[in-house]
Amino acid sequence: MKKGHQHIHPGMARVGNLSVGKGHPVWLQSMTKTDTRDTDATIKQCIESFEKGAALMRISIPDRTALQHFTLIQKKIRQAGFQNPLAADIHYRADLAIEAARVAQKIRINPGNFVSASKRENIASSEHPADNYKELTYNELRKLTDVCNNNGTAIRIGVNAGSLPTHIIRKFGHTSTALVEATAEYLEILENLGFFNTVISIKSSRIRETVAACRAMQERMQVQGRLYPLHIGVTEAGNGISGRMKSAAGILELLHSGIGDTLRVSLSESPVNEILFGRELLKHAGMPRVHPNTNYNHKNKHFNIYSEAKTPDQLIADVVWQFISYKNETINDLTIKAPGISDQGIMKNVSDQLLQVSGIRIVETEFVGCPGCARTEMDMEGLCGEIKKRFSGLPGLKIAVMGCMVNGPGEMGDADYGLIASGKDSLILYKGQNPIGKYPDIKSALHHLQKEIID
Ligand code: SF4
Repeated sequence: MKKGHQHIHPGMARVGNLSVGKGHPVWLQSMTKTDTRDTDATIKQCIESFEKGAALMRISIPDRTALQHFTLIQKKIRQAGFQNPLAADIHYRADLAIEAARVAQKIRINPGNFVSASKRENIASSEHPADNYKELTYNELRKLTDVCNNNGTAIRIGVNAGSLPTHIIRKFGHTSTALVEATAEYLEILENLGFFNTVISIKSSRIRETVAACRAMQERMQVQGRLYPLHIGVTEAGNGISGRMKSAAGILELLHSGIGDTLRVSLSESPVNEILFGRELLKHAGMPRVHPNTNYNHKNKHFNIYSEAKTPDQLIADVVWQFISYKNETINDLTIKAPGISDQGIMKNVSDQLLQVSGIRIVETEFVGCPGCARTEMDMEGLCGEIKKRFSGLPGLKIAVMGCMVNGPGEMGDADYGLIASGKDSLILYKGQNPIGKYPDIKSALHHLQKEIID
């Protein structure tokens, strides 16, 4: 019997030494932000994350050199005594995915860009784009699933709102249904190829879209009796309090409904920060839903949240977790009391961000920020911090900060403005989906963005 066909039950996947789904714990994962060719730095991020509670780490494999380094990274991590599975993140390169599947314990592919851009363009303009797309994908995936089955490698179908196949967008638009249909189409192809060791993820930077799509996919799988583990998260959440608030709102709502088998908090910060906040979310998902001092005033529709949090991470997880129990009430305003947090700036920021993500009131600029990976040389955390400093306090405006030209333009979604890194320091400024300027450094890019927005 082929390795990949062993021990796989509906709703469960086997990723290296990890059983995912079907009654197993919700596992935390993160992704390295280093250049994969920097072996030592990548190993360091993996080991630090494992020590903080990551069950699995994902590493970008943009090219063959990175794959060679991935092999070395894995070897050294094992030598250091860590048996945690490693996932290889592949875009645009079916050939690379096949090679990586011989080494990694999981391959993450994106249906929107698994086959090369030129092949996708030819198909999009053909007479039967949907049928041709499925046929091409089937053929491209055949080899990969053979290698995965022979090596016991899992596949994650990582569907992202910013990179959906063209025929799906044409039929369903940019909707949660489109996300579900893209996932279902890929699952069907994998099943037709006899491959079942699959984890799925459906992500968008829009929280409601992410939650709606995950719910719909879970329901669909249950109705059809074809269950697969679901990896959950909100993509391009950015950093700091707003990034955590967006992630908490999406992830906790899903966990509240019993949805989610692995999770990643995508922050434009270190992987360790992602894991630490993920731990807070998991901790709260197992706690009583509402503090006894929390109450809702039916008369003026005011929600008073009481929290015993001692840190900002605890506070965010706690207020979101409590808010979810009242989300069906009409809430006009809210007040947060947390005697353990003395910094009033943090209290105001958390309160504003909760108002914003819950849709009660738009009080701030919305920032979208990719978490960064091996495909960027830009200091994403530093850039996000600069942007927030300069452009906070502009409610109704949405600014995206993306780390690379490979995925940035597609994944910045419906942002009013986008800054996309095109090199170590250089940035391209977008207005909507149109590039309007290229700048050699952050300072000049921010200056021109300021001129566009404010002057
Ligand atoms: S947009 Fe950001 S996270 Fe996505 S591939 Fe590019 S650098 Fe990596």
